[in-house]
Amino acid sequence: MNLKARYCRKHTPKSVRLRSIFNRIINALKDNGDELNHNWEVVVVDKPKVSNAFCLPGGKIVIFSGILKHLKSDAEIATVIGHEVGHSVARHSAEHITSYLWLDISKFILRRFVMRDIANRISKKLLELPLSRRMEKEADYIGMMLMASAGYDPRVAPKVFESDGGDEYSEYFSTHPCGKKRAQLLSQPKVMEEALRIYSTRMMGERSCDRVAGRRGRDY
Ligand SMILES: [Zn+2]
Repeated sequence: MNLKARYCRKHTPKSVRLRSIFNRIINALKDNGDELNHNWEVVVVDKPKVSNAFCLPGGKIVIFSGILKHLKSDAEIATVIGHEVGHSVARHSAEHITSYLWLDISKFILRRFVMRDIANRISKKLLELPLSRRMEKEADYIGMMLMASAGYDPRVAPKVFESDGGDEYSEYFSTHPCGKKRAQLLSQPKVMEEALRIYSTRMMGERSCDRVAGRRGRDY
């Protein structure tokens, strides 16, 4: 099977679900006026044995389908997508990836449809270069605020990071700081209260839209 076949077609249920979560997060970002002129795109790679996700410069988020085995709810998926979008928002990838490596990656991308295990190689290349703890903390914070403003319960985020133990998650979490520490930082009252305030504002907005729609419905 060549790699082309491994890219999820845009209309498979898995791909549609991931894209809709990604789009909600990007729309929340745009609503806040933080679009950043990125060409936001999520690339879903259908590799059930790879549980990973990472960001590339310019707003490209790569997600391997294996991560869906561990992330059951939309809010759990939004935690990981929010984190990766957070890296992009903070321009960590540009900060982190040297121009030499970027050249290397560009070559990989150009050849992605002819080389068999290219997705894996890109992943490995990036995984060998963990981002700094400061960047991870920033991406966690931005990601949790983004998921909240997209209407996903931010209380889920620390739980996702807390459950990083064991082999199952090891791929994604091998390059990330200790999950317990990350969960603690996100659970700090000041941080979580801010996220919950954003979340409830969003949910109140949705409820009032529903009420308006309901009223209109009765009018007809
Ligand atoms: Zn990260």
